[in-house]
Amino acid sequence: MDIRTVAVIGAGTMGAGIAQVCAQTGWETRLYDAFSEGLEKGMDTIDSFWEKGIARGKTTQQEKVKWLANISQYTDLREAVKGVDLVIEAVPEKMELKQQIFAQLEQMAPSHSLLATNTSGLPISAIAETTNCPERVIGMHFFNPVPIMKLLEIVRHKSCSTDSILAAQSIGSAMGKETILVNDVPGFATSRLGVVLGNEAVKMLAEGVASASDIDTAMRLGYRHPMGPLELSDLVGLDVRRDILNSLAEAFDDDSYRPHGLLDSLVEEGSLGKKSGKGIYDWTSGEKSDREDLPL
Ligand code: NAD
Repeated sequence: MDIRTVAVIGAGTMGAGIAQVCAQTGWETRLYDAFSEGLEKGMDTIDSFWEKGIARGKTTQQEKVKWLANISQYTDLREAVKGVDLVIEAVPEKMELKQQIFAQLEQMAPSHSLLATNTSGLPISAIAETTNCPERVIGMHFFNPVPIMKLLEIVRHKSCSTDSILAAQSIGSAMGKETILVNDVPGFATSRLGVVLGNEAVKMLAEGVASASDIDTAMRLGYRHPMGPLELSDLVGLDVRRDILNSLAEAFDDDSYRPHGLLDSLVEEGSLGKKSGKGIYDWTSGEKSDREDLPL
């Protein structure tokens, strides 16, 4: 599949990163968000990633200018997807919202385009089946931060065509990712393990087993994880992790996946992780530090 133009739907943590990598791949990239503040924040994230790269000598001002010229911003979905070859959706992890967007994409995006969702764990078939073109719908699950993380988990569902799978694999390679192919089982191969580990770590923190930083150090040094499960939860976003846990509990009809009460109360008080300045850790200084005031 020859990709020239890509629309990324949702300019948050993931959408901004995906748009950045698409632009760096040389594709005309349309970044769409329903909210202009979301769009602005997404563009700021991309800009500061490139600025840091320049400061560290990893990229140049000329490259930044070239990549930036590949990105345009949209708050009108119909305009954003006009004539595109690929759509990658990265709106919040809510089934109804994603279904609504895909129903619109079917009407608005060209009939040859591949329609991908970056869901962390919702069933792809339930999203695909809201359209009359389920064969063109596929899961393309990127990881945070998208410009750095090598993995792309491709999720096929029963009506997905072989052409769509091959296209997603070649798109992933063009974006510099290593792809794995996974069946459409809730939580796929990655999120299911990741969120269970994170939720158990939150439970241990609430039980007073150790401080957040000591629990994280245990997994970094004892199990060679590059980052502890609590720090990773803060990086992903506690709201995102809570939503994934709830959707796994519903999909498997198993309450052992439900988010621990501490995770729920952190999200309710607005402590969403690094993106909001506080989560399991306090990030207000720019570095993480253990919080003394956790609502246990
Ligand atoms: P986020 O909250 O950072 O960003 C969501 C963006 O979508 C926001 O900019 C918001 O303004 C926008 N939005 C909300 N409603 C919209 C609508 N109707 N139309 C268009 N835009 C809308 O979320 P995120 O962390 O980027 O997660 C997005 C998706 O990616 C979720 O499905 C999540 O599960 C998945 N995901 C997240 C991570 C992660 O580490 N955060 C990793 C892999 C996959």
